Amino acid sequence: MTRTPYLSSRLQGFGTTVFAEMSALAVATGSINLGQGFPDEPGPAAVLDVARAAIGTAHDQYPPGPGLPELRTAIAEHQLRFRGLTHDPDGEVLVTAGATEALTAALLALLEPGDEVVLFEPMYDSYAAAVAMAGGVLRPVPLHPPAVAAGEVGTGAWTFEEAALRAAVTPRARMLLLNTPHNPTGKVFTAAELALLAEVATAADLLVLTDEVYEHLVFDGATHTSIATLPGMAGRTLVISSGGKTFNTTGWKIGWVCGPAPLVAAVRTAKQYLTFVNGGPFQPAVAAGLRLPDAFFAGVTADLQRRRDRLTAGLAAAGLPVVSPQATYFATVDVRPLQPDGDGVAFCRALPARAGVVAVPSVVFYGAADAHLGRHLVRFAFCKRDEVLAEAARRLGEMQ
Ligand SMILES: *Cc1c(COP(=O)(O)O)cnc(C)c1O
Repeated sequence: MTRTPYLSSRLQGFGTTVFAEMSALAVATGSINLGQGFPDEPGPAAVLDVARAAIGTAHDQYPPGPGLPELRTAIAEHQLRFRGLTHDPDGEVLVTAGATEALTAALLALLEPGDEVVLFEPMYDSYAAAVAMAGGVLRPVPLHPPAVAAGEVGTGAWTFEEAALRAAVTPRARMLLLNTPHNPTGKVFTAAELALLAEVATAADLLVLTDEVYEHLVFDGATHTSIATLPGMAGRTLVISSGGKTFNTTGWKIGWVCGPAPLVAAVRTAKQYLTFVNGGPFQPAVAAGLRLPDAFFAGVTADLQRRRDRLTAGLAAAGLPVVSPQATYFATVDVRPLQPDGDGVAFCRALPARAGVVAVPSVVFYGAADAHLGRHLVRFAFCKRDEVLAEAARRLGEMQ
Protein backbone atom coordinates (compact mmCIF):
# COMPACT_ATOMS: atom_id res chain seq x y z
CA MET A 1 0.00 0.00 0.00
CA THR A 2 1.28 3.52 -0.75
CA ARG A 3 1.98 5.69 2.27
CA THR A 4 0.04 8.92 2.72
CA PRO A 5 2.56 11.74 3.31
CA TYR A 6 2.73 13.30 6.79
CA LEU A 7 0.09 10.92 8.20
CA SER A 8 1.30 8.99 11.26
CA SER A 9 1.74 5.25 10.99
CA ARG A 10 -1.25 4.80 13.31
CA LEU A 11 -3.54 6.41 10.72
CA GLN A 12 -2.12 5.02 7.48
CA GLY A 13 -4.96 3.62 5.40
CA PHE A 14 -7.56 5.99 6.89
CA GLY A 15 -6.79 8.86 4.50
CA THR A 16 -9.88 9.28 2.36
CA THR A 17 -13.43 7.98 2.59
CA VAL A 18 -15.85 6.97 -0.13
CA PHE A 19 -18.53 9.03 1.68
CA ALA A 20 -16.89 12.28 0.58
CA GLU A 21 -16.53 11.04 -3.00
CA MET A 22 -20.16 9.91 -3.16
CA SER A 23 -21.55 13.09 -1.59
CA ALA A 24 -19.52 15.17 -4.09
CA LEU A 25 -20.92 12.99 -6.91
CA ALA A 26 -24.45 13.64 -5.66
CA VAL A 27 -23.90 17.40 -5.79
CA ALA A 28 -22.12 17.32 -9.17
CA THR A 29 -24.84 15.20 -10.82
CA GLY A 30 -27.91 16.57 -9.01
CA SER A 31 -28.64 13.09 -7.68
CA ILE A 32 -30.70 12.15 -4.65
CA ASN A 33 -28.19 11.45 -1.89
CA LEU A 34 -29.10 8.25 -0.06
CA GLY A 35 -25.45 7.73 0.81
CA GLN A 36 -24.56 9.50 4.03
CA GLY A 37 -27.22 8.99 6.71
CA PHE A 38 -28.58 12.36 7.76
CA PRO A 39 -32.26 13.35 7.98
CA ASP A 40 -33.63 16.07 5.67
CA GLU A 41 -36.29 17.31 8.11
CA PRO A 42 -35.97 19.29 11.36
CA GLY A 43 -36.37 17.59 14.73
CA PRO A 44 -39.24 18.16 17.20
CA ALA A 45 -40.04 21.83 17.90
CA ALA A 46 -40.06 21.08 21.65
CA VAL A 47 -36.33 20.31 21.33
CA LEU A 48 -35.31 22.98 18.81
CA ASP A 49 -37.07 25.77 20.73
CA VAL A 50 -35.08 25.03 23.90
CA ALA A 51 -31.80 25.36 21.97
CA ARG A 52 -32.90 28.65 20.37
CA ALA A 53 -33.91 30.08 23.75
CA ALA A 54 -30.61 28.98 25.31
CA ILE A 55 -28.47 31.01 22.89
CA GLY A 56 -27.58 34.39 24.36
CA THR A 57 -27.74 33.06 27.93
CA ALA A 58 -25.17 31.53 30.28
CA HIS A 59 -25.48 28.33 28.19
CA ASP A 60 -23.15 29.95 25.65
CA GLN A 61 -20.24 29.45 28.07
CA TYR A 62 -18.47 26.21 29.03
CA PRO A 63 -20.88 23.76 30.62
CA PRO A 64 -19.50 21.68 33.54
CA GLY A 65 -16.92 19.10 32.36
CA PRO A 66 -19.16 16.03 32.91
CA GLY A 67 -22.09 17.81 31.21
CA LEU A 68 -24.97 20.03 32.29
CA PRO A 69 -26.49 18.52 35.49
CA GLU A 70 -29.98 18.83 33.99
CA LEU A 71 -28.89 16.76 30.96
CA ARG A 72 -27.11 14.13 33.07
CA THR A 73 -30.28 13.77 35.15
CA ALA A 74 -32.40 13.46 31.98
CA ILE A 75 -30.03 10.79 30.61
CA ALA A 76 -30.28 8.80 33.85
CA GLU A 77 -34.10 9.11 33.82
CA HIS A 78 -34.18 7.99 30.17
CA GLN A 79 -32.00 4.95 30.95
CA LEU A 80 -34.36 4.02 33.79
CA ARG A 81 -37.52 4.60 31.70
CA PHE A 82 -36.43 2.63 28.63
CA ARG A 83 -33.83 0.13 29.92
CA GLY A 84 -34.57 -0.25 33.61
CA LEU A 85 -30.96 0.74 34.39
CA THR A 86 -30.17 2.98 37.36
CA HIS A 87 -27.28 5.46 37.10
CA ASP A 88 -26.15 8.22 39.46
CA PRO A 89 -26.08 11.38 37.31
CA ASP A 90 -23.03 12.43 39.36
CA GLY A 91 -20.28 10.00 38.41
CA GLU A 92 -22.06 7.38 36.30
CA VAL A 93 -23.12 9.63 33.39
CA LEU A 94 -20.81 11.66 31.15
CA VAL A 95 -21.90 13.98 28.32
CA THR A 96 -19.66 13.81 25.23
CA ALA A 97 -19.26 15.41 21.79
CA GLY A 98 -21.54 12.87 20.16
CA ALA A 99 -21.31 9.12 20.45
CA THR A 100 -18.15 9.41 18.34
CA GLU A 101 -16.20 11.13 21.09
CA ALA A 102 -17.62 8.79 23.72
CA LEU A 103 -16.27 5.83 21.71
CA THR A 104 -12.89 7.39 20.98
CA ALA A 105 -12.39 8.64 24.54
CA ALA A 106 -13.37 5.23 25.93
CA LEU A 107 -10.91 3.42 23.64
CA LEU A 108 -8.11 5.89 24.43
CA ALA A 109 -8.81 5.65 28.15
CA LEU A 110 -9.24 1.90 28.47
CA LEU A 111 -6.85 0.24 25.99
CA GLU A 112 -3.15 -0.49 26.31
CA PRO A 113 -1.18 -0.69 23.05
CA GLY A 114 -1.68 -4.14 21.55
CA ASP A 115 -4.95 -4.82 23.39
CA GLU A 116 -7.48 -6.54 21.15
CA VAL A 117 -11.01 -5.35 20.48
CA VAL A 118 -13.59 -7.92 19.38
CA LEU A 119 -16.33 -6.45 17.20
CA PHE A 120 -18.72 -7.32 14.39
CA GLU A 121 -18.08 -6.59 10.76
CA PRO A 122 -19.34 -4.68 8.78
CA MET A 123 -18.73 -1.91 11.32
CA TYR A 124 -19.41 1.81 11.74
CA ASP A 125 -16.57 3.63 10.03
CA SER A 126 -15.11 5.41 13.07
CA TYR A 127 -14.42 2.19 14.99
CA ALA A 128 -11.33 1.02 13.11
CA ALA A 129 -9.74 4.48 13.16
CA ALA A 130 -10.49 5.04 16.85
CA VAL A 131 -9.08 1.63 17.80
CA ALA A 132 -5.98 2.43 15.72
CA MET A 133 -5.53 5.81 17.43
CA ALA A 134 -5.68 4.02 20.78
CA GLY A 135 -3.02 1.52 19.65
CA GLY A 136 -5.50 -1.36 19.78
CA VAL A 137 -5.93 -4.28 17.39
CA LEU A 138 -9.22 -5.23 15.70
CA ARG A 139 -10.56 -8.80 15.93
CA PRO A 140 -13.60 -8.69 13.63
CA VAL A 141 -16.34 -11.32 13.58
CA PRO A 142 -18.27 -11.37 10.29
CA LEU A 143 -22.04 -10.87 10.14
CA HIS A 144 -23.67 -12.73 7.24
CA PRO A 145 -26.74 -11.39 5.41
CA PRO A 146 -29.84 -13.58 5.03
CA ALA A 147 -30.45 -15.07 1.57
CA VAL A 148 -32.82 -12.95 -0.52
CA ALA A 149 -34.04 -13.60 -4.08
CA ALA A 150 -33.77 -10.90 -6.76
CA GLY A 151 -36.74 -8.56 -6.66
CA GLU A 152 -37.65 -9.54 -3.09
CA VAL A 153 -37.60 -7.79 0.24
CA GLY A 154 -35.92 -10.22 2.64
CA THR A 155 -37.04 -10.23 6.25
CA GLY A 156 -34.43 -12.60 7.66
CA ALA A 157 -31.76 -11.47 10.09
CA TRP A 158 -28.01 -11.09 9.71
CA THR A 159 -26.26 -13.82 11.69
CA PHE A 160 -22.81 -14.77 12.98
CA GLU A 161 -21.16 -18.07 13.84
CA GLU A 162 -20.55 -18.79 17.50
CA ALA A 163 -17.26 -20.49 16.59
CA ALA A 164 -16.07 -17.33 14.80
CA LEU A 165 -16.87 -15.27 17.88
CA ARG A 166 -15.03 -17.64 20.20
CA ALA A 167 -12.04 -17.79 17.85
CA ALA A 168 -11.81 -13.98 17.81
CA VAL A 169 -11.31 -13.88 21.58
CA THR A 170 -7.60 -14.50 22.19
CA PRO A 171 -5.65 -14.02 25.44
CA ARG A 172 -4.91 -10.43 24.26
CA ALA A 173 -8.63 -9.57 24.04
CA ARG A 174 -9.50 -6.64 26.32
CA MET A 175 -12.81 -5.37 25.00
CA LEU A 176 -16.01 -6.27 23.17
CA LEU A 177 -17.28 -3.35 21.07
CA LEU A 178 -20.93 -4.03 20.30
CA ASN A 179 -23.29 -1.94 18.18
CA THR A 180 -26.97 -2.79 18.49
CA PRO A 181 -29.14 -1.76 16.70
CA HIS A 182 -26.39 -2.16 14.12
CA ASN A 183 -25.20 0.21 11.39
CA PRO A 184 -24.93 -0.59 8.46
CA THR A 185 -26.94 -3.86 8.59
CA GLY A 186 -29.98 -2.75 10.61
CA LYS A 187 -29.62 -5.87 12.75
CA VAL A 188 -31.00 -5.94 16.29
CA PHE A 189 -29.05 -8.48 18.33
CA THR A 190 -31.40 -11.10 19.80
CA ALA A 191 -31.71 -12.13 23.44
CA ALA A 192 -29.92 -15.41 22.66
CA GLU A 193 -27.06 -13.61 20.88
CA LEU A 194 -26.69 -11.13 23.73
CA ALA A 195 -26.63 -13.98 26.25
CA LEU A 196 -23.83 -15.66 24.29
CA LEU A 197 -21.90 -12.37 24.07
CA ALA A 198 -22.34 -11.81 27.80
CA GLU A 199 -21.09 -15.32 28.54
CA VAL A 200 -18.03 -14.87 26.30
CA ALA A 201 -17.26 -11.40 27.70
CA THR A 202 -17.52 -12.64 31.27
CA ALA A 203 -15.41 -15.75 30.67
CA ALA A 204 -12.63 -13.68 29.04
CA ASP A 205 -13.05 -10.79 31.52
CA LEU A 206 -13.68 -8.26 28.73
CA LEU A 207 -14.84 -4.70 29.12
CA VAL A 208 -17.91 -4.06 26.94
CA LEU A 209 -18.61 -0.87 25.01
CA THR A 210 -22.10 -0.87 23.54
CA ASP A 211 -23.05 1.73 20.94
CA GLU A 212 -26.83 2.15 21.06
CA VAL A 213 -27.37 5.36 19.05
CA TYR A 214 -30.25 3.70 17.13
CA GLU A 215 -32.00 2.55 20.33
CA HIS A 216 -35.27 4.26 19.35
CA LEU A 217 -35.22 3.43 15.62
CA VAL A 218 -36.44 -0.18 15.96
CA PHE A 219 -39.26 -1.62 13.81
CA ASP A 220 -41.92 -4.35 13.76
CA GLY A 221 -41.68 -6.79 16.58
CA ALA A 222 -37.95 -6.31 17.17
CA THR A 223 -36.95 -5.25 20.69
CA HIS A 224 -33.74 -3.47 21.54
CA THR A 225 -32.09 -4.84 24.67
CA SER A 226 -28.94 -3.35 26.13
CA ILE A 227 -26.32 -5.95 27.03
CA ALA A 228 -25.82 -3.92 30.23
CA THR A 229 -29.15 -5.28 31.48
CA LEU A 230 -28.02 -8.92 31.36
CA PRO A 231 -27.09 -10.53 34.70
CA GLY A 232 -23.63 -9.50 35.86
CA MET A 233 -22.96 -7.23 32.86
CA ALA A 234 -23.58 -3.73 34.27
CA GLY A 235 -20.26 -3.80 36.15
CA ARG A 236 -18.19 -4.26 32.98
CA THR A 237 -20.28 -2.33 30.43
CA LEU A 238 -20.30 1.26 29.19
CA VAL A 239 -23.47 2.20 27.30
CA ILE A 240 -23.01 4.87 24.64
CA SER A 241 -25.80 6.79 22.91
CA SER A 242 -26.55 10.17 21.40
CA GLY A 243 -29.37 12.56 20.58
CA GLY A 244 -28.43 12.90 16.91
CA LYS A 245 -30.38 10.00 15.43
CA THR A 246 -33.39 10.16 17.77
CA PHE A 247 -34.03 13.91 17.46
CA ASN A 248 -32.90 14.52 13.83
CA THR A 249 -30.02 16.65 15.13
CA THR A 250 -26.93 14.86 13.82
CA GLY A 251 -25.00 18.15 13.65
CA TRP A 252 -25.43 18.93 17.33
CA LYS A 253 -23.12 16.17 18.54
CA ILE A 254 -24.56 15.66 22.00
CA GLY A 255 -23.77 12.13 23.12
CA TRP A 256 -23.23 10.34 26.41
CA VAL A 257 -21.79 7.36 28.16
CA CYS A 258 -23.27 5.61 31.21
CA GLY A 259 -21.72 2.91 33.36
CA PRO A 260 -19.84 2.11 36.57
CA ALA A 261 -18.19 5.19 38.14
CA PRO A 262 -14.55 3.99 37.78
CA LEU A 263 -15.01 3.29 34.05
CA VAL A 264 -16.84 6.58 33.46
CA ALA A 265 -14.11 8.43 35.37
CA ALA A 266 -11.47 6.88 33.09
CA VAL A 267 -13.39 8.01 29.99
CA ARG A 268 -13.78 11.50 31.50
CA THR A 269 -10.00 11.74 31.90
CA ALA A 270 -9.46 11.23 28.16
CA LYS A 271 -12.50 13.30 27.18
CA GLN A 272 -11.43 16.37 29.15
CA TYR A 273 -8.33 16.73 26.95
CA LEU A 274 -10.10 15.96 23.66
CA THR A 275 -12.92 18.54 23.70
CA PHE A 276 -13.38 19.25 27.44
CA VAL A 277 -17.03 20.21 26.69
CA ASN A 278 -19.22 21.02 23.68
CA GLY A 279 -22.62 22.23 22.52
CA GLY A 280 -23.64 24.39 25.52
CA PRO A 281 -27.06 25.51 24.20
CA PHE A 282 -27.81 22.06 22.81
CA GLN A 283 -27.40 20.30 26.14
CA PRO A 284 -30.64 21.60 27.74
CA ALA A 285 -32.42 20.96 24.41
CA VAL A 286 -31.42 17.28 24.34
CA ALA A 287 -32.45 17.05 28.02
CA ALA A 288 -35.92 18.25 26.96
CA GLY A 289 -35.95 15.70 24.14
CA LEU A 290 -35.09 12.80 26.43
CA ARG A 291 -38.04 13.80 28.63
CA LEU A 292 -40.59 13.77 25.78
CA PRO A 293 -43.53 11.41 26.33
CA ASP A 294 -43.46 7.81 25.08
CA ALA A 295 -45.74 8.83 22.19
CA PHE A 296 -42.89 10.85 20.65
CA PHE A 297 -40.54 7.86 20.60
CA ALA A 298 -43.26 5.58 19.21
CA GLY A 299 -43.94 8.18 16.50
CA VAL A 300 -40.28 8.23 15.41
CA THR A 301 -40.44 4.47 14.89
CA ALA A 302 -43.74 4.45 12.98
CA ASP A 303 -42.59 7.27 10.74
CA LEU A 304 -39.29 5.64 9.81
CA GLN A 305 -40.86 2.23 9.32
CA ARG A 306 -43.12 3.71 6.62
CA ARG A 307 -40.07 5.21 4.89
CA ARG A 308 -38.20 1.93 5.17
CA ASP A 309 -41.02 0.07 3.47
CA ARG A 310 -41.20 2.67 0.70
CA LEU A 311 -37.49 2.47 -0.08
CA THR A 312 -37.15 -1.32 0.21
CA ALA A 313 -40.16 -1.80 -2.10
CA GLY A 314 -38.50 0.52 -4.63
CA LEU A 315 -35.18 -1.31 -4.43
CA ALA A 316 -36.87 -4.69 -4.84
CA ALA A 317 -38.89 -3.40 -7.81
CA ALA A 318 -35.60 -2.28 -9.37
CA GLY A 319 -34.49 -5.92 -9.25
CA LEU A 320 -32.16 -5.65 -6.27
CA PRO A 321 -32.41 -8.22 -3.47
CA VAL A 322 -32.81 -6.09 -0.35
CA VAL A 323 -32.77 -6.96 3.34
CA SER A 324 -35.51 -5.14 5.26
CA PRO A 325 -33.70 -3.80 8.32
CA GLN A 326 -35.12 -4.42 11.81
CA ALA A 327 -33.80 -1.01 12.93
CA THR A 328 -31.73 2.09 11.99
CA TYR A 329 -32.32 4.06 8.78
CA PHE A 330 -30.26 1.98 6.38
CA ALA A 331 -31.11 -0.82 3.93
CA THR A 332 -28.56 -3.11 2.28
CA VAL A 333 -28.85 -4.57 -1.23
CA ASP A 334 -26.88 -7.17 -3.19
CA VAL A 335 -25.95 -5.49 -6.48
CA ARG A 336 -25.16 -8.64 -8.47
CA PRO A 337 -28.43 -8.84 -10.47
CA LEU A 338 -27.63 -5.37 -11.91
CA GLN A 339 -23.82 -5.48 -11.61
CA PRO A 340 -22.80 -8.99 -12.65
CA ASP A 341 -19.15 -8.59 -11.59
CA GLY A 342 -20.38 -7.86 -8.05
CA ASP A 343 -18.32 -4.68 -7.69
CA GLY A 344 -20.29 -2.48 -5.29
CA VAL A 345 -17.89 0.45 -5.66
CA ALA A 346 -18.30 0.44 -9.46
CA PHE A 347 -22.08 0.16 -9.01
CA CYS A 348 -22.12 3.22 -6.73
CA ARG A 349 -19.87 5.24 -9.05
CA ALA A 350 -22.22 4.51 -11.98
CA LEU A 351 -25.50 4.90 -10.08
CA PRO A 352 -25.78 8.71 -10.42
CA ALA A 353 -25.62 8.43 -14.23
CA ARG A 354 -27.77 5.30 -14.32
CA ALA A 355 -30.50 6.41 -11.94
CA GLY A 356 -29.78 9.85 -10.43
CA VAL A 357 -29.34 8.30 -6.98
CA VAL A 358 -26.30 8.02 -4.69
CA ALA A 359 -25.59 5.18 -2.24
CA VAL A 360 -22.45 3.94 -0.44
CA PRO A 361 -20.61 0.68 -1.10
CA SER A 362 -20.69 -1.44 2.06
CA VAL A 363 -17.10 -2.56 1.50
CA VAL A 364 -16.05 0.62 3.37
CA PHE A 365 -17.46 -0.96 6.53
CA TYR A 366 -15.08 -3.95 6.33
CA GLY A 367 -11.40 -4.33 7.17
CA ALA A 368 -9.02 -5.25 4.34
CA ALA A 369 -8.93 -8.94 5.29
CA ASP A 370 -12.70 -9.37 4.96
CA ALA A 371 -13.38 -6.90 2.13
CA HIS A 372 -14.56 -9.77 -0.11
CA LEU A 373 -17.53 -10.32 2.24
CA GLY A 374 -18.91 -6.84 1.53
CA ARG A 375 -17.77 -6.33 -2.06
CA HIS A 376 -21.23 -6.87 -3.60
CA LEU A 377 -23.22 -5.00 -0.95
CA VAL A 378 -24.44 -1.40 -1.07
CA ARG A 379 -26.15 0.68 1.62
CA PHE A 380 -29.05 3.11 1.03
CA ALA A 381 -30.35 5.56 3.70
CA PHE A 382 -34.09 6.16 4.11
CA CYS A 383 -34.10 9.02 6.64
CA LYS A 384 -35.50 11.29 3.91
CA ARG A 385 -38.87 12.93 3.19
CA ASP A 386 -41.57 10.70 1.67
CA GLU A 387 -41.54 12.56 -1.64
CA VAL A 388 -37.75 12.23 -1.89
CA LEU A 389 -37.99 8.48 -1.29
CA ALA A 390 -40.85 8.17 -3.78
CA GLU A 391 -38.77 9.96 -6.43
CA ALA A 392 -35.71 7.83 -5.63
CA ALA A 393 -37.82 4.66 -5.94
CA ARG A 394 -39.23 5.89 -9.29
CA ARG A 395 -35.73 6.59 -10.62
CA LEU A 396 -34.37 3.25 -9.44
CA GLY A 397 -37.33 1.49 -11.08
CA GLU A 398 -36.41 3.01 -14.44
CA MET A 399 -32.75 2.13 -14.14
CA GLN A 400 -31.20 0.35 -17.14
C1 LIG B 1 -24.14 8.02 13.65
C2 LIG B 1 -23.42 6.98 14.46
C3 LIG B 1 -22.56 7.34 15.50
C4 LIG B 1 -22.15 8.77 15.74
O1 LIG B 1 -22.99 9.43 16.61
P1 LIG B 1 -22.70 10.98 16.91
O2 LIG B 1 -23.55 11.24 18.08
O3 LIG B 1 -23.10 11.73 15.68
O4 LIG B 1 -21.25 11.13 17.16
C5 LIG B 1 -22.00 6.34 16.27
N1 LIG B 1 -22.27 5.05 16.03
C6 LIG B 1 -23.05 4.66 15.02
C7 LIG B 1 -23.30 3.22 14.80
C8 LIG B 1 -23.64 5.62 14.18
O5 LIG B 1 -24.39 5.23 13.15
